Amino acid sequence: MEETYDFVIVGAGSAGCVLANRLSADGKNTVLLLEAGPRDTNPWIHIPLGYGRLFVDSKINWGYSSEPEPHLNGRRIYNPRGKVLGGSSSINGLIYIRGQPEDFDDWRAGNRGWSWAEVLPYFKRAEDQARGADEWHGTGGPLAVSDCCDPHPLCEAFIDAAEQAGFPRNPDFNGATQEGAGYYQLTSRRGRRCSAAVAYLRPALRRPNLRVVTEALTSRILFEGRTASGVEYRAHGALTTAKARREVIVAAGALATPPLLQRSGVGPADLLKRLGITPVLAHEGVGRNYHDHLQVRVALRCTQKITLNDDMVSLGRKVAMGLRYALLRKGMLTIGAGYAGGFFRTPLAEDHRPDIQSHFLVFSLDKMGEALHPFSGFTASSCQLRPESRGEVMATSPDPEAPPSIRANFLATEKDRRVNVEGLKLIRRILAAPAMQRFIAKEHEPGEHVRSDDEILAYCRERGSTIYHPSGTCKMGDDPLAVVDHRLAVRGLERFRVVDASVMPQVPSGNTNAAVIMIAEKASDMILGTA
Ligand SMILES: Cc1cc2nc3c(=O)[nH]c(=O)nc-3n(C[C@H](O)[C@H](O)[C@H](O)COP(=O)(O)OP(=O)(O)OC[C@H]3O[C@@H](n4cnc5c(N)ncnc54)[C@H](O)[C@@H]3O)c2cc1C
Repeated sequence: MEETYDFVIVGAGSAGCVLANRLSADGKNTVLLLEAGPRDTNPWIHIPLGYGRLFVDSKINWGYSSEPEPHLNGRRIYNPRGKVLGGSSSINGLIYIRGQPEDFDDWRAGNRGWSWAEVLPYFKRAEDQARGADEWHGTGGPLAVSDCCDPHPLCEAFIDAAEQAGFPRNPDFNGATQEGAGYYQLTSRRGRRCSAAVAYLRPALRRPNLRVVTEALTSRILFEGRTASGVEYRAHGALTTAKARREVIVAAGALATPPLLQRSGVGPADLLKRLGITPVLAHEGVGRNYHDHLQVRVALRCTQKITLNDDMVSLGRKVAMGLRYALLRKGMLTIGAGYAGGFFRTPLAEDHRPDIQSHFLVFSLDKMGEALHPFSGFTASSCQLRPESRGEVMATSPDPEAPPSIRANFLATEKDRRVNVEGLKLIRRILAAPAMQRFIAKEHEPGEHVRSDDEILAYCRERGSTIYHPSGTCKMGDDPLAVVDHRLAVRGLERFRVVDASVMPQVPSGNTNAAVIMIAEKASDMILGTA
């Protein structure tokens, strides 16, 4: 079968949904959006706390695993990714963070148009901020951003403890300054998840010039010479060729975009040779510069039965939680991955910028996706915001169903090791402040016996894991490893762009969904020529 559209977009995730909406908005262009996963009908997608249930659900989650990580004691690190309309924004922790202005000013090197001043309007255009518009925030955009549910005594204690430890209270991490402790805002509206599919795709679905095909796995990009002419995809047993009159845009995410390019003949020469793929363009950068945020957690036993762990073992409390949500859209079911948290400077921070982020959770468990601890527990984590370590993502076979080889190379540099150790010490310093102490019966993990820097580093290696922000695998720039230019056009090829977390030259200092949505907002203007 063969079809023709103006634009063919691969992947209906955070970026793909934005592009599908914006490129079809004026009715002039025909747009095809292809998504490997199903529609977002699973009810747990739309209830924020459902996050925990989606974590390992293979129907809507690619559930990747890394190769053994050399600096994490050879462990394979689980890496969930959304495989559903909305992509990872349908299974993520809902935290709304943009990063630091300096992140984007750094992107600006080699990438005209990406400074903080130039990207802020796109963050604002995307946003529907429940607190109202101001210098930093927008209203009336598709993406709902709102305050989390009610204050929680443990979160209050964490924020007070941070103040006692010398860090400011911060009511808005996306405002004048990122530094300090406070509550996270979430991409939710009235207690329901606002994924990119809810925000951008649903309002556009009735447009006659937009076609969305779910359960459609794009197997490769088609080229005529060096021009992308369309894609080949398999849906419901049929293999279809979709031609693109104007452009093919890949938005499959930082772990799926490089293997798709590589299978299509765009990638490192030796890889293409090894896999027997005819090269379209040998490019060493495709799949390199992979990096992510490593998270290390401190789990605590609580002196009071006020944690989600306690709710989940009590039928009465679970019923009350369900009723409170059903009637008022409030309570524990409205919380995402982090309730409170903060951005802090360790002694290694080189300038005035926080170098670690903390997520404070009112529950505890051994591993994300597993059952909560049977005791009252809560968690405070540390993650290094600007890691130096770099890895790679490579196709393992021409078969589009074959999972890629993923190597994050966490903790490969001395600086990353030291910042992670200092980050954990800083979190412990906050937990040791008087406001928090009355809630702590005992440190469950790493435990009191883990004290010296060497012991803490050993703990990071044994228990550290991703916080799900893979980035940079088809980076934007003007150096030899840069895959796309500042307009996100793939270098050396025509009518072909990448628009997703892969193009980030460096991961922003925080959670990545808002930045990906900003990238796609800006890309749509560049594609339509309205920038
Ligand atoms: C568990 C988890 C928690 C997170 N928590 C947060 C958080 O709290 N706050 C935050 O800001 N960020 C968070 N993130 C990160 C954030 O959600 C991602 O950075 C962002 O969604 C990435 O957007 P993307 O468009 O690059 O990729 P994705 O949203 O992953 O979209 C890629 C899409 O492409 C599809 N696709 C892939 N290959 C193909 C193919 N061959 N054919 C067709 N379709 C294909 C995928 O199925 C997917 O739908 C989290 C992520 C995860 C997984």
